[in-house]
Amino acid sequence: MNRQVPADISGQERAIRVFGRMMKRDLLAHAYLLVGPSGVGKEALAFSLAKLLLCEHPYFGEDHPRPCGSCAGCIKFEHRTHPDLEILKPQGAMIKLDQVRDLQRALSFSPLDSQRRVCLILEAQKINLPSANALLKTLEEPPDRNHLLLTATSVRALLPTIVSRCQVIHCEGLPVSAIMERIKEERLCPSESAQFLSCFSEGSISKTRDLIEQDVVFSVREKLLEFLKSERKKALSMLFILSKQISDSRESILLAVQVIRTFLRDLMMLKGFRNDDRKESKEHGIQTLFNPDYVSELQAISHLFSFQDLVEYCQWLDKLEWLLDRNISREFLAESALIFWIRKRR
Ligand SMILES: [Zn+2]
Repeated sequence: MNRQVPADISGQERAIRVFGRMMKRDLLAHAYLLVGPSGVGKEALAFSLAKLLLCEHPYFGEDHPRPCGSCAGCIKFEHRTHPDLEILKPQGAMIKLDQVRDLQRALSFSPLDSQRRVCLILEAQKINLPSANALLKTLEEPPDRNHLLLTATSVRALLPTIVSRCQVIHCEGLPVSAIMERIKEERLCPSESAQFLSCFSEGSISKTRDLIEQDVVFSVREKLLEFLKSERKKALSMLFILSKQISDSRESILLAVQVIRTFLRDLMMLKGFRNDDRKESKEHGIQTLFNPDYVSELQAISHLFSFQDLVEYCQWLDKLEWLLDRNISREFLAESALIFWIRKRR
């Protein structure tokens, strides 16, 4: 029996443990809402819990409960042919009323194969109002032996009446250290870039993989470093093109801001190391930088700014993120993010 937690739900062990304890004691609620940012593994968790519910011989150890993997329930689940598994997800942009009605019809019959039926409602934040109202009726009086598992990015995106009828399970992202380990294990990028990449993962290994696939984050880093390294005249000549590139979308400007933050944080750290004469602590310190692979470039420019300048730059970036949501030209904001650097450098 595979006792390992599947990779895509690592980080959700606590949620699985709590759920397993409830299941073992026969205290399961009729509806669970798995909430968390996209990419943290909510859907993988929902599928895992569904499999556990449909397994004929689940294993409840001291650690994680697990489906046996070999019973008829598990096999049908894996082939997505289990008659007691219903999956509802947005058709196009929305979950529509007809879909909810179909689900309600299915729920009106007893489970066919298993002791219970499991209904997965994925991306429940995309439910439109009539569908949400219809679903509410099911959540209020769920037919016996039916369990609903909903996933959503935020409780605020749902009707409060839906949330209040579900037991909410918060799915948190993986800590940066765990993401870094996974990046190294899966060799997603050179190990000296793992620390940098993990800053952009938002706790999600699938987001990390997407970032590598899109191949943007490293090229933005290269361009921004080139800009930061350049003398005033050259930096000014780069300003227009670079700010146009990074202001392409809200996401691209936020990515650039985040990349700049990693440099600013590293420069602050390097200033700290300069005052520390111990060789070992310096070496250890370099390992904790977001950009240890660019340490010599960063060391070469760290004298250009005082610690206070760097703090002010960070504060300006905070403000810029706030302004971004307030109808101000993205290109203007991108430019001002970069000009700060030129203006302050000595
Ligand atoms: Zn099984």
